[in-house]
Amino acid sequence: MEKRANPMTGREAEYFWCLHCEKVYPAVDWDEAGEMCFYGKEWICPGDGCDGTTKDAHPWVLEDWPREHHPEYPEVPEIGVYYPLYGPGCVEAPDKINPTIGT
Ligand SMILES: [Zn+2]
Repeated sequence: MEKRANPMTGREAEYFWCLHCEKVYPAVDWDEAGEMCFYGKEWICPGDGCDGTTKDAHPWVLEDWPREHHPEYPEVPEIGVYYPLYGPGCVEAPDKINPTIGT
């Protein structure tokens, strides 16, 4: 898989994880879904209906979200699979665990 660099952070990876949909897509797909704008290229999350952009694209490496918290996540991710940043039982993101909380 080809590496590309996030145009904002300059960090290179073959895959990037999206902070919005918490799924992983090839760097090439982020780049090709992107659009040119006044400061250069804005990446767009290739996920269906996702509004994630360059700032939400985290390289799929051990030193970044979510793998630094989840060493059990695979080195080569499955495309489109949900890899949550917070695991079950974590109180920091109850809406991700139980969507009925607060309704
Ligand atoms: Zn996304």
